[in-house]
Amino acid sequence: MAGNSPRVGVLALQGDVREHLAVLTALGADARPVRRPEELAAVEGLVLPGGESSVIDKLARAFGMFDPIRDAISAGMPMYGTCAGLILLADRIDGGIEGQQTFGGIDARVARNVFGSQTASFETDLAVPALGDPPVHAVFIRAPAVLEWGPDAEPLASLPDGRVVAIEQGALLGTAFHPESTGETRFHARFLDRVRDRRGADVVAS
Ligand code: GLN
Repeated sequence: MAGNSPRVGVLALQGDVREHLAVLTALGADARPVRRPEELAAVEGLVLPGGESSVIDKLARAFGMFDPIRDAISAGMPMYGTCAGLILLADRIDGGIEGQQTFGGIDARVARNVFGSQTASFETDLAVPALGDPPVHAVFIRAPAVLEWGPDAEPLASLPDGRVVAIEQGALLGTAFHPESTGETRFHARFLDRVRDRRGADVVAS
């Protein structure tokens, strides 16, 4: 372990893994790809990248990662999901393929591809009060949105029509957009803060 750097992983089964590793490394984390249960066991937090949530779900099961990730969530490991990663952290999804599962953890219903066809993408500036100024320049790519959430989940940002596109519950954070591709680092920094908080709360660090 490199000094006190948070040791974090990016789930590297499919999706935009490299971009997340670059942001986390630039923020001073010891960041590495995670594909196997033993690699998950060696990190203090996990990013679930954008990509295709149904594919990541299938690969997670094929690689024996599904239950370990669920167990890590139950144990309180901080995680940050972008886009497909947000879908994977939601307890309920709309528009999943047959048999599609999520790791869950955020008490929310997330709808896949809610902004239109496979190619639908757009950019907008979003106020995110929890992050302060300036607003977040958000890039949405075949993005999901949160349609309903429970009392323990806290929306962090919404579109003018009220659909929630950033949400947090305990140590879990999800955004429907891709900060990793625009130089926006505040969500990753927030995730790393959660990792440090949890470390501070643990009596024994491994
Ligand atoms: N549409 C994808 C899904 O449902 C998410 C797109 C993305 O991660 N950019 O998984």
